[in-house]
Amino acid sequence: YNAKRAGGGHVVYQRDDDQESRRRLELTTALRRDVSTEAMVLHYQPKLDLRTGSIRGFEALVRWQHPELGLLSPDQFLPIAEQTGLMSALTCNVMTKAVRQCARWHAEGSPVSVAVNASATDLRHENFPQHISELLDRHSLPAGALTVEITETMMLSDWATTDRVLDRLTSMGVAVSIDDYGTHHSTLSYLRRLHTARELKLDRSFIADMLTAPRSAAIVRSTIDLAHDLGITVVAEGVEDAATLDALREWGCDQAQGYHIGRPAPATSAASLSQPAR
Ligand code: C2E
Ligand code: MG
Ligand code: MG
Ligand code: MG
Repeated sequence: YNAKRAGGGHVVYQRDDDQESRRRLELTTALRRDVSTEAMVLHYQPKLDLRTGSIRGFEALVRWQHPELGLLSPDQFLPIAEQTGLMSALTCNVMTKAVRQCARWHAEGSPVSVAVNASATDLRHENFPQHISELLDRHSLPAGALTVEITETMMLSDWATTDRVLDRLTSMGVAVSIDDYGTHHSTLSYLRRLHTARELKLDRSFIADMLTAPRSAAIVRSTIDLAHDLGITVVAEGVEDAATLDALREWGCDQAQGYHIGRPAPATSAASLSQPAR
């Protein structure tokens, strides 16, 4: 503030801006180089079946092993991928790795499912389902083993194409899941429109305080009932303690994910999947 008043501030801020845009440009160049390579690493987070106490499947979460900056999390590079047209290539890479890993688990005698997060770009591409279908064929993985997670904001534009893509995925046997449920506008409208959705994932923000905030608890409980009335499976995101897990089980929630159950981690062999049930 003072520097600006003194007249030198403008130069200082400008240099910061230049630095920021140079950093972004470097990151974009590196991402373009790495987006389809082994530098994109998948971590897998388990989804626990609350009725059986066994691990049902895994969600694939991408990380970028950057040569100088280390392991970058999705929020550090997904926006850049989206803005620079690299998102389709990224999804293709993630999808390929996830399907290959899931096929490996199946071959090892563990028929778990794998979930991949889609982007808005993917749902606007008419050939997205065809691409997935070819991948599943190539790895002899049944379509029922794959879930595609979408968020409601992805459905805001190009309704016709988006709905067609989701319908095709569903008719192929791929499960469509609504991620971060409850955090967007018109959530109920989307639930009606997304008549093919098989799963909804209750956002972590509701789970985090459901034992201390009666309002969150009421929302969680009634969403579970609502989903069940619609024939939709409910997954609780971000479960961080045993008490929350117990309450969710009692309220009839189907599945749970969270640090208490397992953190996202590199893929392990099927043998180590059968961890003690919580
Ligand atoms: P998401 O799909 O809702 O994934 C859940 C995020 O919450 C993950 O963060 C996960 O590590 C984190 N998480 C899981 N359990 C807990 C918990 O108990 N406590 C807390 N505090 N956090 C927990 P991550 O891996 O950083 O991913 C962030 C978001 O980036 C994802 O949110 C998803 O929207 C997006 N994303 C991740 N991988 C991909 C991908 O391959 N493609 C696309 N398009 N998006 C991806
Ligand atoms: Mg997700
Ligand atoms: Mg989520
Ligand atoms: Mg999220």
